[in-house]
Formats: sequence, C-alpha cells, structure tokens
Amino acid sequence: MSRNPRIVVWNEFRHERENPVVRRIYPDGIHTAIMNALRRDGFSDVRSATLDEPEHGLPPEVLEETDVLLWWGHRHHDDVSDAVVKRVHDRVLRGMGLVVLHSGHFSKIFKRLMGTACSVNWRADGERERVWVVKPEHPVAEGLGRYFELEQEEMYGEVFEIPEPDELVFLSWFAGGEVFRSGCCYTRGRGRIFYFRPGHETFPTYHDATVQRVIGNAARWVAPHAIAQDPSANIRRDPLEPLHNGRAG
Ligand code: ZN
Repeated sequence: MSRNPRIVVWNEFRHERENPVVRRIYPDGIHTAIMNALRRDGFSDVRSATLDEPEHGLPPEVLEETDVLLWWGHRHHDDVSDAVVKRVHDRVLRGMGLVVLHSGHFSKIFKRLMGTACSVNWRADGERERVWVVKPEHPVAEGLGRYFELEQEEMYGEVFEIPEPDELVFLSWFAGGEVFRSGCCYTRGRGRIFYFRPGHETFPTYHDATVQRVIGNAARWVAPHAIAQDPSANIRRDPLEPLHNGRAG
C-alpha cells in the first residue's frame, strides 16, 4: 500500500473562485495543481475533496479508502464541520498520513492534532523565502540541495506555537529577516503528519518543481504500511491462560 497510497488532496477552493489573481495562477484550483504534480511523481490513485462538497468531500466511505490526506485551507477553517474533523482525526490515529500545507497551520484538524494555538507571525508582501534543508538525510528532503528559494512568498515568522517537532526538516529565512520552522514531522497515534509551510494562494508556489518534489516526498513519508482497525473493535478481556480465580480462558 505504501508504494502507491490512495491520496486525497483537500482544498478550501474558495479563493480561486472569488479572487481573479488566484484564479489566474490556479485556474482549476490549488488542489488540481497539486494532484497533477503528484501524478507526474508516479502516484496513480489521487483524487480531490473540497469544502463546498457534501461533507466537504470526506464522507466515511471516502476517508475509509484514504491512506494520505493533504490539507490546504485558509479563510474558512471554521466552516469545516466538527464531525468531519473528528473523522479525519480518528483516521490519523489509526494510521492515515496527513500533509498540512501553508495556512492549514490554523485548520481545526491541525490544531486538534497539535493541541496548541498553532499561531504564527505573518506578512503577505511577497518577499524572498530561502528554505534551508536542516535534516538532509530525511526522506522528505530527498533530491534537494542545501536550500531552495521562492522569489515571492508570504512571510511566516516565529514564534510558531506548535509542540516541539519530532524532526525538523526545513527552516525558512525571509528577506525581511524572520525565520520559521517550515518542515515539521509529527506522529499522532499510528499516523504520521508533515507540516510544510510554503503555498500562499496569490503566488505560484505549487507550480515550483522543488515544492512539488517536497510534496511528493512528504506523501511517501507519511503513507502508512497499514491502517489499524477501529480500536474499539479490538478490546479483548478473555485471558490466554486460566486464572487462579478459576475463570477459564
Ligand atoms: Zn497565506
């Protein structure tokens, strides 16, 4: 399964319909740019889900066939229903991989998994971002050099209110002087989570070949070998050996 995970790219998909600047960069939506990049990277089971679909495109039957979920949201985090957030959360704990992109740092699902405020400093002036690879041996950094640059990005600055990452793969520097932990690895339950910072909607970040490579690497790294059963189906009380109180196995 992990070699060709079943991937869903979730996108809020409202900026692209409401803002002509964003529509020009992503005429078919951010999710389509990311799906096309993943397919070019060799993933063949890739589909999308968006906020305004019924159950945000993530009914139980879809999620039950998802190994890796990517999440891009920005202005409408509060429109995501708590029932869907719980469903995604439960599946991450059972092993589904989650890649949280850019402003998804403030999504309900990321905040729930982190348990912290997840706030950042920010400035959307379109300045240069230099993303340093601080853990070059990590699978998410495969094929990258010492750093890569994006000519125009939104600045996110520390302090990023997250729990200490299990591993930090990227550290960004911005032309205005700030730094930011841009590639953060976590495990929650059986599921792997990767947070990847770049991706402001008014810049062509998801058309960048290096960014696309990172997203593919991240999808491979979070992909589970197997998804566990619902833990409540697993509870056993019968002893393997007879107990001294006479109770039989
Ligand atoms: Zn942004």
